Amino acid sequence: MARMADIRVAVVGAGPAGLYAAEALIAQTDGNVQVDVLDRLPSPYGLVRYGVAPDHTSIKSIARYLQRVLEHPAVRFFGCVELGSDVTRRELLDCYDAVVYCTGAAVDRRLGVPGEDLPGSVAATDFVNWYCGHPDAAEHDFDLSVEEVAVIGVGNVAVDVVRILAKSAEELRDTDIPEHVIEALAGSRVRRVHLIGRRGPAQAKFTTKEVRELGELANAEIHVRPQDLESDPASAEAAERDRRVRGNLAALRAWTGPPAGDRPRRIDVRFWLAPVEILGTRRVEGLRLERTAPQGDGRVRGTGEFETLPVGMVVRSVGYQSVPLPGLPFDERSHVVPNEGGRIVDASGRRVPREYVAGWIKRGPTGVVGTNKSDAAETVANLLADLTADPDRPPPRRRIEDLLESRACRVVTYADWLNLDAAERDLARRLNRGERVKLGGWEAMRAACHPR
Ligand code: NAP
Repeated sequence: MARMADIRVAVVGAGPAGLYAAEALIAQTDGNVQVDVLDRLPSPYGLVRYGVAPDHTSIKSIARYLQRVLEHPAVRFFGCVELGSDVTRRELLDCYDAVVYCTGAAVDRRLGVPGEDLPGSVAATDFVNWYCGHPDAAEHDFDLSVEEVAVIGVGNVAVDVVRILAKSAEELRDTDIPEHVIEALAGSRVRRVHLIGRRGPAQAKFTTKEVRELGELANAEIHVRPQDLESDPASAEAAERDRRVRGNLAALRAWTGPPAGDRPRRIDVRFWLAPVEILGTRRVEGLRLERTAPQGDGRVRGTGEFETLPVGMVVRSVGYQSVPLPGLPFDERSHVVPNEGGRIVDASGRRVPREYVAGWIKRGPTGVVGTNKSDAAETVANLLADLTADPDRPPPRRRIEDLLESRACRVVTYADWLNLDAAERDLARRLNRGERVKLGGWEAMRAACHPR
């Protein structure tokens, strides 16, 4: 019979969901477990490193908490190991008693309007990856010579994007934004950013603390049209029910005065405008929007009135979505791996043994970083209950380290990651910039992991 101490679990994805899952595995077994955390990147922390905005330093400090999980003796980090190419799902199942997939939601949702693929129409996921220094985005080049930008969607990601576009490069110098991105932002000619919601202010997804920050920017003034804030029954009901909605409305109301025109940049928060077409021949030249009106139930209908904004760039910030994992069931409608409390189930509702999910791939792209803690704990409780209920299962047949070695896969260990971490801190010191400056690109990161 396998004792708890013999349990080996692979966690795929070293973001918050993966590391909270590792933490829960340790906590719920009193450390009598071996947890291997695999990630295709050389660095851990997932969205804390590559999604949380660089100027949100207090949220970024969650990495210090997650670091303690990685440093637990029961945990090993395997960076630069990609599921599908370096190790298959079947092989993982040979090496472990159970596998928890925590691969998040890596791609953007499509807008579905003509012109979406024109140069200058940008997915927020790509723009965020770029300013966060994600190695996949190191080669991206955004044309910031344009004067007006539209950001579609009124969630917290859109608010982050607006803030980064509205701040001066000087204001961002103390963040970990890579040097080449700071240089591009310093050359930005963007003067006006439109933040666009297809429904009303009471239906906006952003949180009050986040949207309030836009009003505190030194470099930009913010304006909301008073008529956009006129209430309808569904909005009044939402405001009554939800403190966040009341807070958002109060923040927006404070910005309805006439713009003073005394700052280099301006933010216009607009509502009741649904994107119809991104205009342009060779690149983005405008955004055509249809005015919407409330239907009374929180939804909107088109009014047949149109407006065109003369923007040279459109950032589509309409949500993230997960991608299917090779060989695992996937719900194409909700873009998650179908599961019951983290236990993966197939199309007919049957359990897929020994495979689990946690985080955004389990529940969709919602909630704050901390939401993943309870989410992962639920998955792990179910995983351990299943293993306990099956004491006679055969032990794992292979060792992951042998397998990766036989494949000449250059794994980044936790010690290697610490080299990269030190190189980024050292770069910040040399540039006289904050605590850390991210290295741009795969090559620089790999080289820093394995210094000669
Ligand atoms: P989100 O909160 O789901 O917001 C997506 C926005 O896109 C909504 O306003 C949505 O409007 C709009 N949208 C969707 N389809 C559209 C379409 N076809 N046309 C026009 N608008 C459309 O997603 P997110 O901003 O990507 O954020 C993801 C998660 O990360 C959220 O839980 C968020 O709170 C979290 N996050 C948190 C922070 C923070 O705490 N500081 C920072 C970043 C992200 P409808 O409502 O009308 O669909």
